[in-house]
Amino acid sequence: MIIVLKKGATKEEKENIINKIESLGLSVHVSEGKERTIIGAIGDESILRERPINSMPGVESVMPILKPFKLVSREFQKEDSIINISGDEIGGNKIQIIAGPCSVEDKESLLTTAKDVAKTGTAFLRGGAFKPRTSPYSFQGLGEEGLKYLKEAKEATGMRIVTELMDPRDLDVIYKYADVIQIGARNMQNFRLLKEVGGMDKPVLLKRGLSATIKEFLMSAEYIASEGNRQIILCERGIRTFETEMRNTLDVSVIPAIKRLSHLPVVIDPSHAVGRWDLVSAVSKAAIAAGADGLLIEVHCDPLNALCDGSQSLKPNKFAKLYEELKRIAKAVDRSL
Ligand code: PEP
Ligand code: MN
Repeated sequence: MIIVLKKGATKEEKENIINKIESLGLSVHVSEGKERTIIGAIGDESILRERPINSMPGVESVMPILKPFKLVSREFQKEDSIINISGDEIGGNKIQIIAGPCSVEDKESLLTTAKDVAKTGTAFLRGGAFKPRTSPYSFQGLGEEGLKYLKEAKEATGMRIVTELMDPRDLDVIYKYADVIQIGARNMQNFRLLKEVGGMDKPVLLKRGLSATIKEFLMSAEYIASEGNRQIILCERGIRTFETEMRNTLDVSVIPAIKRLSHLPVVIDPSHAVGRWDLVSAVSKAAIAAGADGLLIEVHCDPLNALCDGSQSLKPNKFAKLYEELKRIAKAVDRSL
């Protein structure tokens, strides 16, 4: 249920309303907008229908949230969410690029790639230390050693770190090094894991599952938000279709569709979507033109010898060229880069 407060509602009136909702066993989420305060009452809405909340002082209107996702819905919050990561915002006017290797392989290659990426002005460095590989015999990541290299790359370049958490048992160690915790496509519906990151005070980049509908995607975001963490960035990375020419099929329509349904920022991962470096630039530009708030791009200083996803990784010089081209697309859609 959404309870919209009157423009001049007092602090006391607001507190009375919150207390009333909580006394009925529902949880309260307050959204302080520029104009109005909105209180979200989450739980069994039928209880509220029987209680005259709308006649309480300070209440302007009471409306049901029609969508199954509540806290992440546009109904609940009209303004776009802007996620602030130590001063760098995702979801604001500036488009953010997150770039780096698929996985952290060794210190030298990570630092080489990171320094090249940083030269473009990119604020976020990606790199997996715990890798979700299809084969148990493939490189699984360096674990904490990889996280330490990411820390060194951060110190050398000033970039923020985006890295994947696969298992709640690694939460503490990932928390120590990550600025943004990535939840991979395969774990989009790992509800225990979502609840764990929902209880943390760190931004989460949630990737769309391989065959997840938009509704399922937003319900997973709701899992995180319902535990208190509202710093969520959604990431489309292509979905499974009958097409085999590309690794996956990039669903560009997801950007405007989600923007209508949710206030959360949307980032596109063109690399895992197409699975081929030669298509990455074109779809990156399409994503920005369609309203994406950022891109997550795999870049490797030596893709031919990469231990993971080399065939879809851009070399730093190609990435730098793309970055310049993206500036022009951004400008055309009234965004900065
Ligand atoms: C990744 O970004 O490293 C990754 C494994 O992607 P996805 O979860 O989208 O497959
Ligand atoms: Mn990868």
